[in-house]
Amino acid sequence: MFYRCTLVVIATHRYGECYCHVKVGIYHKDGMTNVVIVGGGPAGLSAALFVRKNGLDAVVFDTDETWMHKAHLFNYLGIGSVGGSEFMATARQQVDDFGVDRRQGEEVTTISENGDGFTVTTVEDEIQADYVVLATGANRDLAEDLGCEFDDDGTVAVDITMETSVEDAYATGAMPRAEEWQAAISVGDGAAAALNILSKEKGEHYHDFDVPADAEAVFGGMSDE
Ligand SMILES: Cc1cc2nc3c(=O)[nH]c(=O)nc-3n(C[C@H](O)[C@H](O)[C@H](O)COP(=O)(O)OP(=O)(O)OC[C@H]3O[C@@H](n4cnc5c(N)ncnc54)[C@H](O)[C@@H]3O)c2cc1C
Repeated sequence: MFYRCTLVVIATHRYGECYCHVKVGIYHKDGMTNVVIVGGGPAGLSAALFVRKNGLDAVVFDTDETWMHKAHLFNYLGIGSVGGSEFMATARQQVDDFGVDRRQGEEVTTISENGDGFTVTTVEDEIQADYVVLATGANRDLAEDLGCEFDDDGTVAVDITMETSVEDAYATGAMPRAEEWQAAISVGDGAAAALNILSKEKGEHYHDFDVPADAEAVFGGMSDE
């Protein structure tokens, strides 16, 4: 498999009171999208952030019907109070900054196994993927079409990594849960799926741990205007 590396230098953006100048080396596997994520709510964008930040290609398809547009969060640890749409705007900026290919407004209509991964069909396109992360909220139709096993309560059966009975297909957020639906849980599910994909790709258990020196490297040129 051939990989090429691009040094991506991304513009300075403001996160709360901080300015972030993101500079990151990203590896692309030629001719193939590594991970397709269906749904761009907290679960899907979390998965996208982790896989892209750690060198895999990520495409997110999203029809923007996330429940977050109806929510105001007082229960997201580390954030005192934030509007759901405001949270999503920051999350979208964050994944965009890392180079996620976010296809806003594009609906995925079918996903099928093709013997060497997955074929993902949208209203506009058809692309191939090594992995799929389903993050479509309480809508479980794509998981059913793909042949994922379901639990007796009608939710998608997953293991602790959020992988379904279909190898390399993951289900996150509301899909594997009857009722315990919270933004923080969805973000955790997306991260768990992404880390499992990264561990498979890198051939050993993978941790996305950053340290203060990484922050200095990223924020070193920060201006506080
Ligand atoms: C009124 C209300 C208030 C809430 N308040 C809180 C709160 O205070 N705190 C809290 O933690 N949680 C709250 N929640 C719950 C929170 O919004 C959800 O837990 C969270 O949005 C779930 O994230 P998710 O990524 O799993 O799914 P979603 O946010 O539902 O995102 C799924 C995304 O997938 C897209 N999609 C679906 N099918 C397709 C397809 N075929 N192709 C492409 N895209 C597709 C949808 O358009 C949507 O954007 C609230 C929910 C509601 C309704």
